[in-house]
Amino acid sequence: SSAEAGLYTASDQIVLLTPENVESILVNSTAAMVVEFYASWCGHCIAFSPVYVSLARDIKEWKPAVNLAAIDCAAEENRRVCTGYKIRGYPTIKFFHAYSKADSTGQAFKDFSRNVRGLRHRIIDKLETHVEPWPPACPPLEPTSQAEIDNFFETNNIQHLALIFEEATSYIGREVTLDLLQFENIAVRRVLNTEESLVTKLGVTEFPSCYLYYPGGNFTRLRVNIEARTFYSYALQRLPGVVRSGKPPPVSLHILTNNTDEPWRQFNKSRVYMADLESTLHYSLRVELAAHTVIKGDALTSLKNYISVLAKYFPGRPVVMNLLRYADSWLQKQTADQISYEAFRDILDNKAQIPDAALPEGVRWVGCQGSQPHLRRYPCGVWTVFHALTVQANSGGSSAPREVLGAMRSYVHNFFGCRACAEHFENMARESVAEVDTLSSAVLWLWSRHNRVNNRLAGALSEDPLFPKIQWPSPEMCPACHTVKDNGEHRWNMPQVLPFLMSHFSSSSILTDYLD
Ligand code: FAD
Repeated sequence: SSAEAGLYTASDQIVLLTPENVESILVNSTAAMVVEFYASWCGHCIAFSPVYVSLARDIKEWKPAVNLAAIDCAAEENRRVCTGYKIRGYPTIKFFHAYSKADSTGQAFKDFSRNVRGLRHRIIDKLETHVEPWPPACPPLEPTSQAEIDNFFETNNIQHLALIFEEATSYIGREVTLDLLQFENIAVRRVLNTEESLVTKLGVTEFPSCYLYYPGGNFTRLRVNIEARTFYSYALQRLPGVVRSGKPPPVSLHILTNNTDEPWRQFNKSRVYMADLESTLHYSLRVELAAHTVIKGDALTSLKNYISVLAKYFPGRPVVMNLLRYADSWLQKQTADQISYEAFRDILDNKAQIPDAALPEGVRWVGCQGSQPHLRRYPCGVWTVFHALTVQANSGGSSAPREVLGAMRSYVHNFFGCRACAEHFENMARESVAEVDTLSSAVLWLWSRHNRVNNRLAGALSEDPLFPKIQWPSPEMCPACHTVKDNGEHRWNMPQVLPFLMSHFSSSSILTDYLD
């Protein structure tokens, strides 16, 4: 189908338009829509597509106010749609106001920049051209004044008001306003440096800077490492009382003990626990694999590779390592093209009673505990195990950069119970895992793909309100990992990220609390 042949997939957070859905999406939408009309054979479109995907990731939080879509005009079945919107060249980007009529052909972006920042600014400019009706989910974007602030708490039942002081040409205030639109208990307004009474009252000398303003006129400066959009948005989304719309307010860990049948185990959110790694092995090998009574062909090769990387790089206790090496050598000796799960299970349970070898039974989640029994746990453990494996392979000098990622990819493909996850992961791997050519780039590849998944899932039903999906590590966990480019855009400080990952997942930093 055209959706598969086109430049975008369902996991790109871009609405894929078809003749069937185009009307329901573009006509009378409560959100403004930005649509890229492209041809999959056009070189400029292919070159532009990663920018558009990055843009979708960058303004994901703005969706209720403005959403991105795309359509492949090269696909025969889409020709009528593209002709109808008067598309003559590719790529064309058009903006559709909220509540556009059926006869609207949108407004083309003329000479648009081929970078995320320029496009994001253009989208804000277009949003501001809305005359009534304004997209209902879009907060006000115009600068505020002393008079509006004076009345703010009389007309709004909101705990926090964030004021971003900036120059007229700056977009940060509007960007942060939109970044927070899906969060309750907070409003963001921009204040221009020319708004003298407020600037003087708060004693503002730096532009941009962000202040929290409270009823009665109290205010405090928002503390951030760098005065830039990402840092403001991250800090504001995490203020006490600020919650994602439609999510239950985070309850205290104390009350949480009632939601799962186990007692809550106190833990440090910025550490890795051996209990999670061992629980993951138990669940993976004794529960997930048990769904396959016979393991053969590709699946058998996949199991062999998985156990082999575990035997080499799992940062486990000696008894666990002995069991993994025993299972590995047993598997390597199986020359038939299939094994029964029963036989493998006897090895895992050490029926032969080889000395000092065991894989602990059962799960005991610690860093991967969830506030509800259906949240976190096993998938959290799977990520943690594979990050630890890429890190151990890097410090232990594997000779094959993609050894761990290859084993992970085929394990996920053959066995991971979440089939949609497996499909998304396979898409990412197919797209870029071939670029991994060193052991350290394997560590970084997994880190950056995990962050993509975090971006896609932020706000999803599977997100635990107590453990919001963030671009990890947070500025608190690793201040040096975060920096900005000259133009203020967030940039990961790669020379700091790698050592951070190496240390975070190193065997000497793994905590052994809650083990038997
Ligand atoms: P997780 O994302 O599971 O992360 C676990 C821990 O790893 C975090 O608590 C943090 O300490 C650390 N961490 C976070 N980000 C990074 C990073 N970038 N690098 C290193 N460490 C990090 N769920 C879906 O709903 N849809 C999907 O398509 C989907 N695909 C998945 C694909 C794979 C391969 C896996 C293993 C899981 C997938 N999941 C998917 C599940 C989802 O990613 C989470 O694992 C799950 O929602 C639990 O989230 P969590 O809060 O425990 O954090």
